[in-house]
Amino acid sequence: MSTAFPPELNHQTFRLAVAQFDQAAVHMSLEPGLLERLKAPQRSLCVSVPVRMDNGEVQVFRGYRVHHDLARGPTKGGIRYHPDVSLGEVAALAMWMTWKTAIAGLPFGGAKGGVSVNPSLLSLSELERLTRRYIAEIFPLLGPDKDIPAPDIGTNSQVMAWVMDTYSQQVGYSVRGVVTGKPISIGGSLGREEATCRGVGDVTLEVLRHFRLRISDTTVVIQGFGNVGSHTARILHTEGVKILAISDQLGGIYNQQGLDIPGILSHLASNKVAIPSLTKFGEPISNEDLLVLPCQVLIPAAVAEEITAKNAPFLQCQYVIEAANGPTSLEADAILKERGIFVVPDILANAGGVIVSYFEWVQDAQRFSWQESDIHSRLKTIITAAFHRILNHAEEKNLTMRTAALITGIQEVAYAHQCRGLFP
Ligand code: NAD
Repeated sequence: MSTAFPPELNHQTFRLAVAQFDQAAVHMSLEPGLLERLKAPQRSLCVSVPVRMDNGEVQVFRGYRVHHDLARGPTKGGIRYHPDVSLGEVAALAMWMTWKTAIAGLPFGGAKGGVSVNPSLLSLSELERLTRRYIAEIFPLLGPDKDIPAPDIGTNSQVMAWVMDTYSQQVGYSVRGVVTGKPISIGGSLGREEATCRGVGDVTLEVLRHFRLRISDTTVVIQGFGNVGSHTARILHTEGVKILAISDQLGGIYNQQGLDIPGILSHLASNKVAIPSLTKFGEPISNEDLLVLPCQVLIPAAVAEEITAKNAPFLQCQYVIEAANGPTSLEADAILKERGIFVVPDILANAGGVIVSYFEWVQDAQRFSWQESDIHSRLKTIITAAFHRILNHAEEKNLTMRTAALITGIQEVAYAHQCRGLFP
Protein backbone atom coordinates (compact mmCIF):
# COMPACT_ATOMS: atom_id res chain seq x y z
CA MET A 1 0.00 0.00 0.00
CA SER A 2 1.28 3.50 -0.86
CA THR A 3 2.70 5.34 2.15
CA ALA A 4 0.88 8.45 0.91
CA PHE A 5 -2.41 7.23 2.41
CA PRO A 6 -3.44 8.78 5.73
CA PRO A 7 -2.84 6.32 8.60
CA GLU A 8 -6.60 6.19 9.39
CA LEU A 9 -7.11 4.31 6.10
CA ASN A 10 -4.61 1.65 7.09
CA HIS A 11 -7.20 -1.01 7.86
CA GLN A 12 -7.09 -4.68 6.85
CA THR A 13 -10.19 -4.41 4.60
CA PHE A 14 -8.84 -1.29 2.89
CA ARG A 15 -5.51 -3.05 2.27
CA LEU A 16 -7.48 -5.95 0.73
CA ALA A 17 -9.43 -3.60 -1.58
CA VAL A 18 -6.22 -1.83 -2.69
CA ALA A 19 -4.35 -5.12 -3.21
CA GLN A 20 -7.23 -6.41 -5.39
CA PHE A 21 -7.14 -3.14 -7.34
CA ASP A 22 -3.37 -3.51 -7.85
CA GLN A 23 -3.81 -7.09 -9.09
CA ALA A 24 -6.29 -5.92 -11.72
CA ALA A 25 -4.34 -2.77 -12.64
CA VAL A 26 -1.28 -4.77 -13.79
CA HIS A 27 -3.44 -6.04 -16.68
CA MET A 28 -4.39 -2.48 -17.69
CA SER A 29 -2.48 0.52 -18.98
CA LEU A 30 -3.97 3.18 -16.73
CA GLU A 31 -2.39 6.60 -16.57
CA PRO A 32 -0.36 6.68 -13.28
CA GLY A 33 -2.16 9.78 -11.96
CA LEU A 34 -5.57 8.18 -12.45
CA LEU A 35 -4.36 4.94 -10.90
CA GLU A 36 -3.21 6.79 -7.79
CA ARG A 37 -6.50 8.75 -7.63
CA LEU A 38 -8.65 5.59 -7.85
CA LYS A 39 -6.78 3.81 -5.05
CA ALA A 40 -7.99 6.30 -2.44
CA PRO A 41 -11.35 7.96 -1.75
CA GLN A 42 -12.31 11.15 -3.60
CA ARG A 43 -13.50 12.61 -0.29
CA SER A 44 -14.08 11.37 3.26
CA LEU A 45 -15.94 12.96 6.14
CA CYS A 46 -15.40 11.95 9.77
CA VAL A 47 -18.03 13.19 12.20
CA SER A 48 -18.77 13.14 15.92
CA VAL A 49 -22.33 12.09 16.70
CA PRO A 50 -23.45 13.17 20.19
CA VAL A 51 -26.59 11.35 21.31
CA ARG A 52 -28.69 11.91 24.43
CA MET A 53 -29.22 8.42 25.84
CA ASP A 54 -32.43 7.37 27.62
CA ASN A 55 -30.71 7.83 31.02
CA GLY A 56 -30.06 11.54 30.23
CA GLU A 57 -26.31 11.17 29.61
CA VAL A 58 -24.72 12.25 26.31
CA GLN A 59 -22.66 9.61 24.50
CA VAL A 60 -20.52 10.55 21.49
CA PHE A 61 -20.18 8.07 18.59
CA ARG A 62 -17.79 8.25 15.61
CA GLY A 63 -19.36 8.35 12.16
CA TYR A 64 -18.05 8.38 8.59
CA ARG A 65 -19.21 8.93 5.01
CA VAL A 66 -16.85 8.26 2.13
CA HIS A 67 -17.30 9.08 -1.57
CA HIS A 68 -14.89 6.91 -3.50
CA ASP A 69 -15.54 8.24 -7.00
CA LEU A 70 -18.09 10.57 -8.61
CA ALA A 71 -17.02 10.39 -12.27
CA ARG A 72 -20.03 8.30 -13.43
CA GLY A 73 -22.77 10.01 -11.40
CA PRO A 74 -23.97 10.54 -7.84
CA THR A 75 -22.52 8.14 -5.30
CA LYS A 76 -24.40 5.18 -3.84
CA GLY A 77 -23.66 2.98 -0.86
CA GLY A 78 -25.00 1.66 2.42
CA ILE A 79 -24.88 2.85 6.01
CA ARG A 80 -23.42 0.32 8.45
CA TYR A 81 -23.93 0.35 12.24
CA HIS A 82 -21.36 -1.95 13.84
CA PRO A 83 -18.77 -1.55 16.63
CA ASP A 84 -15.89 -2.29 14.20
CA VAL A 85 -16.82 0.46 11.70
CA SER A 86 -13.77 2.62 10.92
CA LEU A 87 -12.71 5.03 8.20
CA GLY A 88 -10.53 2.37 6.54
CA GLU A 89 -13.32 -0.21 6.42
CA VAL A 90 -15.84 2.32 5.06
CA ALA A 91 -13.30 3.47 2.42
CA ALA A 92 -12.79 -0.13 1.24
CA LEU A 93 -16.54 -0.75 1.00
CA ALA A 94 -16.96 2.55 -0.91
CA MET A 95 -14.28 1.49 -3.41
CA TRP A 96 -16.03 -1.86 -4.00
CA MET A 97 -19.30 0.05 -4.57
CA THR A 98 -17.62 2.03 -7.38
CA TRP A 99 -16.64 -1.15 -9.24
CA LYS A 100 -20.00 -2.83 -8.44
CA THR A 101 -22.11 0.00 -9.87
CA ALA A 102 -19.85 0.25 -12.93
CA ILE A 103 -20.02 -3.51 -13.65
CA ALA A 104 -23.83 -3.38 -13.49
CA GLY A 105 -23.89 -0.29 -15.77
CA LEU A 106 -25.64 1.86 -13.14
CA PRO A 107 -25.16 5.65 -13.35
CA PHE A 108 -23.50 5.87 -9.93
CA GLY A 109 -20.15 6.10 -8.22
CA GLY A 110 -19.32 4.31 -4.96
CA ALA A 111 -19.90 5.50 -1.41
CA LYS A 112 -20.31 4.00 2.05
CA GLY A 113 -20.99 5.29 5.54
CA GLY A 114 -21.30 4.06 9.04
CA VAL A 115 -21.22 4.65 12.74
CA SER A 116 -19.10 2.74 15.22
CA VAL A 117 -21.90 1.50 17.48
CA ASN A 118 -23.56 -1.75 18.54
CA PRO A 119 -27.19 -1.03 17.54
CA SER A 120 -28.53 -3.97 19.53
CA LEU A 121 -27.50 -2.13 22.74
CA LEU A 122 -29.61 0.96 21.87
CA SER A 123 -33.32 1.50 22.53
CA LEU A 124 -35.45 2.37 19.49
CA SER A 125 -35.53 6.06 20.44
CA GLU A 126 -31.73 6.13 20.97
CA LEU A 127 -31.31 4.53 17.54
CA GLU A 128 -33.57 7.20 16.02
CA ARG A 129 -31.68 10.08 17.70
CA LEU A 130 -28.33 8.56 16.62
CA THR A 131 -29.54 8.24 13.01
CA ARG A 132 -30.99 11.76 12.83
CA ARG A 133 -27.85 13.37 14.29
CA TYR A 134 -25.53 11.31 12.05
CA ILE A 135 -27.53 12.35 8.96
CA ALA A 136 -27.53 16.00 10.09
CA GLU A 137 -23.72 15.81 10.39
CA ILE A 138 -23.18 14.30 6.92
CA PHE A 139 -26.01 16.36 5.35
CA PRO A 140 -23.65 18.45 3.12
CA LEU A 141 -22.65 15.28 1.25
CA LEU A 142 -26.16 13.87 0.70
CA GLY A 143 -28.86 14.46 -1.92
CA PRO A 144 -30.70 12.57 -4.67
CA ASP A 145 -28.23 13.95 -7.23
CA LYS A 146 -25.22 13.83 -4.89
CA ASP A 147 -25.10 10.74 -2.69
CA ILE A 148 -27.86 8.22 -1.95
CA PRO A 149 -27.44 5.91 1.09
CA ALA A 150 -29.09 2.49 1.59
CA PRO A 151 -29.19 -0.18 4.35
CA ASP A 152 -26.19 -2.34 5.25
CA ILE A 153 -25.23 -4.40 8.32
CA GLY A 154 -27.05 -3.11 11.41
CA THR A 155 -29.48 -0.81 9.55
CA ASN A 156 -32.89 -1.46 7.99
CA SER A 157 -35.88 0.19 6.30
CA GLN A 158 -36.90 2.00 9.51
CA VAL A 159 -33.44 3.60 9.75
CA MET A 160 -33.76 4.60 6.06
CA ALA A 161 -37.16 6.20 6.83
CA TRP A 162 -35.47 8.38 9.50
CA VAL A 163 -32.73 9.26 6.98
CA MET A 164 -35.38 10.37 4.46
CA ASP A 165 -37.29 12.36 7.08
CA THR A 166 -34.20 14.07 8.54
CA TYR A 167 -32.97 15.14 5.08
CA SER A 168 -36.50 16.31 4.13
CA GLN A 169 -36.81 18.37 7.34
CA GLN A 170 -33.54 20.15 6.52
CA VAL A 171 -34.61 21.17 2.99
CA GLY A 172 -38.28 21.79 3.84
CA TYR A 173 -40.02 19.32 1.51
CA SER A 174 -40.22 15.53 1.06
CA VAL A 175 -37.29 14.08 -0.88
CA ARG A 176 -37.99 10.41 -1.57
CA GLY A 177 -34.95 9.89 -3.78
CA VAL A 178 -32.35 10.78 -1.14
CA VAL A 179 -32.17 7.22 0.22
CA THR A 180 -33.15 3.70 -0.93
CA GLY A 181 -34.30 0.66 1.02
CA LYS A 182 -37.17 2.73 2.47
CA PRO A 183 -40.62 1.45 3.49
CA ILE A 184 -42.99 1.25 0.48
CA SER A 185 -45.28 4.00 1.86
CA ILE A 186 -42.56 6.66 1.48
CA GLY A 187 -41.17 5.60 -1.87
CA GLY A 188 -39.56 2.22 -1.23
CA SER A 189 -39.51 -0.35 -4.01
CA LEU A 190 -41.20 -3.71 -4.16
CA GLY A 191 -38.59 -6.47 -4.07
CA ARG A 192 -35.83 -4.32 -2.47
CA GLU A 193 -35.47 -6.29 0.77
CA GLU A 194 -34.65 -9.57 -0.95
CA ALA A 195 -32.95 -7.99 -3.99
CA THR A 196 -29.37 -8.89 -3.02
CA CYS A 197 -30.43 -12.51 -2.56
CA ARG A 198 -32.42 -12.69 -5.81
CA GLY A 199 -29.22 -11.51 -7.50
CA VAL A 200 -27.18 -14.15 -5.63
CA GLY A 201 -29.78 -16.74 -6.69
CA ASP A 202 -29.74 -15.59 -10.34
CA VAL A 203 -25.92 -15.76 -10.43
CA THR A 204 -25.84 -19.18 -8.73
CA LEU A 205 -28.31 -20.60 -11.26
CA GLU A 206 -26.22 -19.16 -14.14
CA VAL A 207 -23.13 -20.86 -12.71
CA LEU A 208 -24.99 -24.20 -12.51
CA ARG A 209 -26.26 -23.76 -16.09
CA HIS A 210 -22.80 -22.83 -17.40
CA PHE A 211 -21.12 -25.82 -15.76
CA ARG A 212 -24.07 -28.12 -16.66
CA LEU A 213 -24.98 -29.09 -13.10
CA ARG A 214 -28.52 -30.31 -12.44
CA ILE A 215 -30.31 -28.08 -9.92
CA SER A 216 -31.79 -31.09 -8.11
CA ASP A 217 -28.29 -32.61 -7.66
CA THR A 218 -26.78 -29.39 -6.29
CA THR A 219 -25.80 -29.02 -2.64
CA VAL A 220 -25.24 -25.61 -1.04
CA VAL A 221 -23.73 -24.44 2.25
CA ILE A 222 -24.49 -20.90 3.49
CA GLN A 223 -22.49 -19.08 6.16
CA GLY A 224 -24.48 -16.26 7.84
CA PHE A 225 -28.25 -16.28 8.22
CA GLY A 226 -29.12 -12.57 8.42
CA ASN A 227 -30.94 -10.63 5.71
CA VAL A 228 -28.75 -11.95 2.87
CA GLY A 229 -28.17 -15.54 4.07
CA SER A 230 -31.80 -16.28 5.00
CA HIS A 231 -33.39 -14.87 1.81
CA THR A 232 -30.72 -16.59 -0.31
CA ALA A 233 -31.49 -19.92 1.40
CA ARG A 234 -35.24 -19.44 0.81
CA ILE A 235 -34.83 -18.48 -2.87
CA LEU A 236 -32.40 -21.32 -3.68
CA HIS A 237 -34.50 -23.85 -1.74
CA THR A 238 -37.53 -22.78 -3.80
CA GLU A 239 -35.49 -23.35 -6.97
CA GLY A 240 -34.89 -26.93 -5.84
CA VAL A 241 -31.27 -27.01 -4.62
CA LYS A 242 -30.45 -28.83 -1.38
CA ILE A 243 -29.23 -26.52 1.42
CA LEU A 244 -26.99 -28.73 3.58
CA ALA A 245 -25.95 -26.23 6.27
CA ILE A 246 -26.58 -22.69 7.54
CA SER A 247 -25.06 -20.68 10.39
CA ASP A 248 -24.96 -17.47 12.37
CA GLN A 249 -22.07 -16.08 14.38
CA LEU A 250 -22.61 -18.66 17.16
CA GLY A 251 -22.42 -21.69 14.85
CA GLY A 252 -24.63 -23.67 12.51
CA ILE A 253 -26.73 -26.73 11.76
CA TYR A 254 -26.13 -29.44 9.17
CA ASN A 255 -28.38 -32.03 7.55
CA GLN A 256 -26.99 -34.34 4.85
CA GLN A 257 -30.55 -34.86 3.49
CA GLY A 258 -31.03 -31.09 3.08
CA LEU A 259 -32.44 -28.59 5.60
CA ASP A 260 -36.16 -27.77 5.80
CA ILE A 261 -35.63 -24.04 5.04
CA PRO A 262 -39.35 -23.01 5.09
CA GLY A 263 -39.73 -24.83 8.45
CA ILE A 264 -36.64 -23.06 9.86
CA LEU A 265 -37.83 -19.64 8.66
CA SER A 266 -41.30 -20.04 10.13
CA HIS A 267 -39.76 -21.30 13.42
CA LEU A 268 -37.45 -18.23 13.52
CA ALA A 269 -40.36 -15.88 12.73
CA SER A 270 -41.99 -16.79 16.03
CA ASN A 271 -38.86 -17.69 18.10
CA LYS A 272 -35.84 -15.40 18.00
CA VAL A 273 -33.22 -18.09 18.70
CA ALA A 274 -29.67 -18.75 17.54
CA ILE A 275 -29.17 -21.16 14.62
CA PRO A 276 -27.18 -23.82 16.61
CA SER A 277 -30.19 -24.33 18.89
CA LEU A 278 -32.35 -25.52 15.95
CA THR A 279 -31.33 -29.14 16.53
CA LYS A 280 -34.70 -30.54 15.45
CA PHE A 281 -33.73 -29.50 11.89
CA GLY A 282 -30.10 -30.65 11.83
CA GLU A 283 -27.04 -31.49 13.89
CA PRO A 284 -24.93 -28.67 15.33
CA ILE A 285 -21.75 -27.72 13.46
CA SER A 286 -19.11 -25.05 14.11
CA ASN A 287 -18.53 -22.25 11.59
CA GLU A 288 -15.01 -23.62 10.98
CA ASP A 289 -16.35 -27.08 10.08
CA LEU A 290 -19.23 -25.65 8.04
CA LEU A 291 -16.87 -23.87 5.64
CA VAL A 292 -15.06 -27.11 4.78
CA LEU A 293 -18.15 -29.31 4.30
CA PRO A 294 -18.28 -31.24 1.01
CA CYS A 295 -20.78 -29.41 -1.25
CA GLN A 296 -21.00 -27.99 -4.75
CA VAL A 297 -21.63 -24.34 -3.81
CA LEU A 298 -20.38 -22.43 -0.78
CA ILE A 299 -22.05 -19.05 -0.14
CA PRO A 300 -20.33 -16.85 2.46
CA ALA A 301 -23.06 -14.37 3.53
CA ALA A 302 -21.66 -13.07 6.84
CA VAL A 303 -18.65 -10.80 7.31
CA ALA A 304 -15.30 -10.01 5.64
CA GLU A 305 -12.30 -12.38 5.45
CA GLU A 306 -13.91 -15.63 6.61
CA ILE A 307 -12.17 -17.68 3.88
CA THR A 308 -8.51 -17.38 4.77
CA ALA A 309 -5.14 -19.01 4.05
CA LYS A 310 -5.90 -21.28 7.02
CA ASN A 311 -9.11 -22.86 5.71
CA ALA A 312 -8.85 -22.31 1.91
CA PRO A 313 -6.68 -25.45 1.37
CA PHE A 314 -9.45 -27.56 2.96
CA LEU A 315 -12.57 -26.18 1.26
CA GLN A 316 -14.45 -29.03 -0.43
CA CYS A 317 -16.72 -27.01 -2.72
CA GLN A 318 -16.40 -26.40 -6.48
CA TYR A 319 -17.92 -22.91 -6.53
CA VAL A 320 -17.85 -19.96 -4.12
CA ILE A 321 -20.53 -17.30 -4.61
CA GLU A 322 -19.55 -14.28 -2.52
CA ALA A 323 -22.78 -12.86 -1.09
CA ALA A 324 -20.89 -11.01 1.70
CA ASN A 325 -18.54 -8.14 0.96
CA GLY A 326 -14.86 -9.12 1.03
CA PRO A 327 -15.31 -12.65 2.46
CA THR A 328 -12.10 -14.03 0.88
CA SER A 329 -8.65 -12.84 1.95
CA LEU A 330 -6.03 -12.13 -0.71
CA GLU A 331 -3.99 -15.22 0.26
CA ALA A 332 -7.09 -17.43 0.23
CA ASP A 333 -8.03 -16.10 -3.21
CA ALA A 334 -4.68 -17.29 -4.59
CA ILE A 335 -5.18 -20.71 -2.99
CA LEU A 336 -8.70 -21.08 -4.43
CA LYS A 337 -7.38 -20.12 -7.88
CA GLU A 338 -4.60 -22.71 -7.56
CA ARG A 339 -7.13 -25.37 -6.52
CA GLY A 340 -9.44 -24.57 -9.45
CA ILE A 341 -12.35 -23.42 -7.27
CA PHE A 342 -14.51 -21.04 -9.31
CA VAL A 343 -15.22 -17.82 -7.34
CA VAL A 344 -17.93 -15.34 -8.30
CA PRO A 345 -16.67 -12.15 -6.61
CA ASP A 346 -18.77 -9.98 -4.28
CA ILE A 347 -18.81 -6.99 -6.64
CA LEU A 348 -20.77 -9.14 -9.10
CA ALA A 349 -22.55 -11.72 -6.91
CA ASN A 350 -24.16 -9.31 -4.44
CA ALA A 351 -24.88 -6.47 -6.90
CA GLY A 352 -28.64 -7.26 -6.81
CA GLY A 353 -29.12 -4.92 -3.83
CA VAL A 354 -27.72 -1.86 -5.54
CA ILE A 355 -29.44 -2.73 -8.84
CA VAL A 356 -32.87 -2.68 -7.17
CA SER A 357 -31.82 0.41 -5.18
CA TYR A 358 -31.25 2.02 -8.58
CA PHE A 359 -34.80 0.95 -9.58
CA GLU A 360 -36.12 2.56 -6.37
CA TRP A 361 -34.29 5.81 -7.14
CA VAL A 362 -35.66 5.80 -10.72
CA GLN A 363 -39.23 5.13 -9.47
CA ASP A 364 -38.90 8.00 -6.96
CA ALA A 365 -37.75 10.33 -9.77
CA GLN A 366 -40.56 9.14 -12.07
CA ARG A 367 -43.20 9.31 -9.29
CA PHE A 368 -44.29 5.93 -10.66
CA SER A 369 -44.20 2.46 -9.07
CA TRP A 370 -43.23 -0.65 -10.98
CA GLN A 371 -44.77 -4.12 -10.53
CA GLU A 372 -42.75 -6.63 -8.50
CA SER A 373 -42.53 -8.90 -11.57
CA ASP A 374 -40.88 -5.99 -13.50
CA ILE A 375 -38.33 -5.58 -10.71
CA HIS A 376 -37.43 -9.28 -10.69
CA SER A 377 -37.14 -9.59 -14.47
CA ARG A 378 -35.14 -6.35 -14.93
CA LEU A 379 -32.78 -7.41 -12.11
CA LYS A 380 -32.28 -10.81 -13.70
CA THR A 381 -31.58 -9.22 -17.11
CA ILE A 382 -28.93 -6.85 -15.71
CA ILE A 383 -27.13 -9.26 -13.38
CA THR A 384 -27.16 -12.16 -15.86
CA ALA A 385 -25.74 -9.92 -18.61
CA ALA A 386 -23.01 -8.69 -16.24
CA PHE A 387 -22.19 -12.29 -15.25
CA HIS A 388 -21.79 -13.41 -18.89
CA ARG A 389 -19.81 -10.32 -19.88
CA ILE A 390 -17.33 -11.00 -17.07
CA LEU A 391 -17.27 -14.75 -17.67
CA ASN A 392 -16.45 -14.20 -21.37
CA HIS A 393 -13.70 -11.74 -20.43
CA ALA A 394 -12.28 -14.18 -17.85
CA GLU A 395 -12.33 -17.10 -20.29
CA GLU A 396 -10.88 -15.09 -23.20
CA LYS A 397 -7.96 -13.70 -21.16
CA ASN A 398 -7.53 -16.67 -18.80
CA LEU A 399 -8.25 -14.55 -15.72
CA THR A 400 -10.15 -15.27 -12.51
CA MET A 401 -13.69 -13.93 -12.33
CA ARG A 402 -12.52 -11.44 -9.67
CA THR A 403 -9.75 -9.99 -11.84
CA ALA A 404 -12.05 -9.86 -14.88
CA ALA A 405 -14.78 -8.13 -12.84
CA LEU A 406 -12.36 -5.60 -11.38
CA ILE A 407 -10.87 -4.83 -14.81
CA THR A 408 -14.39 -4.33 -16.23
CA GLY A 409 -15.39 -1.99 -13.39
CA ILE A 410 -12.13 -0.04 -13.29
CA GLN A 411 -12.14 0.34 -17.09
CA GLU A 412 -15.65 1.85 -17.06
CA VAL A 413 -14.62 4.35 -14.40
CA ALA A 414 -11.38 5.16 -16.24
CA TYR A 415 -13.35 5.88 -19.45
CA ALA A 416 -15.57 8.31 -17.52
CA HIS A 417 -12.49 10.12 -16.14
CA GLN A 418 -10.90 10.28 -19.59
CA CYS A 419 -14.09 11.69 -21.21
CA ARG A 420 -14.58 14.30 -18.49
CA GLY A 421 -10.92 15.34 -18.32
CA LEU A 422 -9.09 16.70 -15.29
CA PHE A 423 -10.49 19.82 -13.62
CA PRO A 424 -9.27 22.60 -13.75
P1 NAD B 1 -26.98 -9.16 8.77
O1 NAD B 1 -26.43 -8.38 9.91
O2 NAD B 1 -28.47 -9.17 8.53
O3 NAD B 1 -26.53 -10.71 8.88
C1 NAD B 1 -25.22 -11.14 9.11
C2 NAD B 1 -25.28 -12.61 9.53
O4 NAD B 1 -23.97 -13.11 9.64
C3 NAD B 1 -25.95 -12.87 10.87
O5 NAD B 1 -26.66 -14.09 10.80
C4 NAD B 1 -24.76 -13.04 11.82
O6 NAD B 1 -25.07 -13.81 12.97
C5 NAD B 1 -23.81 -13.76 10.90
N1 NAD B 1 -22.41 -13.69 11.27
C6 NAD B 1 -21.69 -12.64 11.71
N2 NAD B 1 -20.42 -13.03 11.92
C7 NAD B 1 -20.33 -14.33 11.57
C8 NAD B 1 -19.29 -15.29 11.54
N3 NAD B 1 -18.06 -14.97 11.93
N4 NAD B 1 -19.58 -16.54 11.13
C9 NAD B 1 -20.82 -16.88 10.73
N5 NAD B 1 -21.84 -16.03 10.73
C10 NAD B 1 -21.60 -14.77 11.15
O7 NAD B 1 -26.21 -8.62 7.47
P2 NAD B 1 -26.64 -8.81 5.94
O8 NAD B 1 -27.38 -7.60 5.50
O9 NAD B 1 -27.23 -10.15 5.76
O10 NAD B 1 -25.21 -8.73 5.25
C11 NAD B 1 -24.35 -9.86 5.19
C12 NAD B 1 -23.20 -9.55 4.23
O11 NAD B 1 -23.74 -9.23 2.94
C13 NAD B 1 -22.35 -8.35 4.62
O12 NAD B 1 -21.03 -8.61 4.21
C14 NAD B 1 -22.93 -7.21 3.80
O13 NAD B 1 -22.00 -6.17 3.58
C15 NAD B 1 -23.24 -7.97 2.52
N6 NAD B 1 -24.22 -7.30 1.68
C16 NAD B 1 -25.48 -7.02 2.16
C17 NAD B 1 -26.39 -6.42 1.32
C18 NAD B 1 -27.81 -6.16 1.77
O14 NAD B 1 -28.64 -5.76 0.92
N7 NAD B 1 -28.15 -6.39 3.02
C19 NAD B 1 -26.05 -6.07 0.00
C20 NAD B 1 -24.76 -6.39 -0.46
C21 NAD B 1 -23.86 -7.01 0.40
